[in-house]
Amino acid sequence: MSLATRPATSQVAVVGAGWAGVAAAVDLCAAGHRVTVFEMAQHLGGRARSLHEGRSEHPLDNGQHILIGAYTECLALMQRLGVDLDAALLRLPLRLRYPRHEGLRLPPGPPLLSFARAVLAYKAWPLAVRLRLLLEATVWLGRGFRCAPELSVAQLCAGLPEVVKHELLDPLCVAALNTPAQRASAQVFLRVLHDALFSGRGSADLLLPRQGLSALMAAPAQQWLHAQGANIHTGARVSAIERAGRGWRLQVQGSALAEDARFDQIVLACSSTQAAQLCAELAPAWAQTARALRFEPIITVYLLAPGSRLPAPMVALAESANAPAQFAFDLGQLGHAPGLFAFVISGATAWVDLGLAETGAMTLEQARHEFVWASEPQVHRVLAEKRATFACTPGLQRPGAKVAEGLWAAGDYIEGPYPATLEGAVRAGRAAAKACITASR
Ligand SMILES: Cc1cc2nc3c(=O)[nH]c(=O)nc-3n(C[C@H](O)[C@H](O)[C@H](O)COP(=O)(O)OP(=O)(O)OC[C@H]3O[C@@H](n4cnc5c(N)ncnc54)[C@H](O)[C@@H]3O)c2cc1C
Repeated sequence: MSLATRPATSQVAVVGAGWAGVAAAVDLCAAGHRVTVFEMAQHLGGRARSLHEGRSEHPLDNGQHILIGAYTECLALMQRLGVDLDAALLRLPLRLRYPRHEGLRLPPGPPLLSFARAVLAYKAWPLAVRLRLLLEATVWLGRGFRCAPELSVAQLCAGLPEVVKHELLDPLCVAALNTPAQRASAQVFLRVLHDALFSGRGSADLLLPRQGLSALMAAPAQQWLHAQGANIHTGARVSAIERAGRGWRLQVQGSALAEDARFDQIVLACSSTQAAQLCAELAPAWAQTARALRFEPIITVYLLAPGSRLPAPMVALAESANAPAQFAFDLGQLGHAPGLFAFVISGATAWVDLGLAETGAMTLEQARHEFVWASEPQVHRVLAEKRATFACTPGLQRPGAKVAEGLWAAGDYIEGPYPATLEGAVRAGRAAAKACITASR
């Protein structure tokens, strides 16, 4: 069958049901394609998932996630799935609140103007420091928030006062790119700043989930896709992909479909390492680029302290050699678990090397030192995701969406302007679906 005679409604397999795979499956279903989703875990959601550990008193997420107002594609996806965004997400103006003082805080209004007003009003920094930051930001603005791809965030910010780097840019960089400033891509960092400050009113707002991550996306997605007639196989690991005429045949472990799963097209929405393995022979150059990506871990230390409350739902912390966490979240104030607190350690390579028990104990000490507690805090769980995100380094080569004819890749690691984020994943999923839909016409 030639491309011109391929049926407009095709059978499409989506391999992996993280946010990228779900975004692709939704668009494909909406376009009338027959969609089969294979997810090797028992639940949808990928790295942004709830842990389904039975009847735990405190159901946990795989790690604390935050969104920003500029994540338009994520928000549109959740809305399409029927999620009430106001109920699901606490929207706060961008604010760096420290345990004992207010940091920079954007007042309401157009983000760019708010940023200038926030910096000028931030009296904790001498006037000369505030003016220096505004001057530098004006230079970035003049250059369209673009820079040479080989520049690191540390190099980009080299001329700025230490206090600005330490209190503002380093925490923003590690939060957004999960890569420390010395090793992080300035180009990607500027793009995130650009989108936060220029995507309209509310784009810099922080959106904190008021519910577990499953309620935010995975559960509504499963329902929506099911209602659209998609076949969803969980506990189904795709172990091989091979050509079958003009289409594809999948080998699937753990699914009733295992014997002969044939599809016109495939969206490969699994991790970069899995995708590289599955495509090693089909597309060696693509697989090589995917395989070359390096990763950064994130550790989340959950503390329990019944009756306690942090000064804000999200508090920034100063990381140091004895204090691992950069942010603390009060899950009681977020509405899901009173007395439960998530301490987040991004770019956590050194802490993983130290060991999780030791890191948990140091985080507990940090928490005791930084906050006043109504009851003695205790470590509840220490979760480490060693491959939380790809290391977003300067000049990084990322694989493109097209692997081969009719075989598309989606995921937060696919070539694009964003670091490894929910928004990057959803955009990649939608782009792969669009490519599939176009190819089937
Ligand atoms: C602890 C932590 C905190 C984070 N915090 C934030 C944050 O605050 N904000 C933000 O925007 N982003 C954050 N991220 C990043 C965000 O979670 C990811 O960018 C996003 O979830 C990636 O989605 P994805 O669909 O590309 O990949 P994944 O979520 O990895 O999905 C891939 C899916 O494919 C499945 N799979 C793999 N191999 C196979 C196979 N062979 N067959 C079938 N299925 C397979 C996997 O089980 C998985 O479900 C964080 C990540 C972590 C780990």
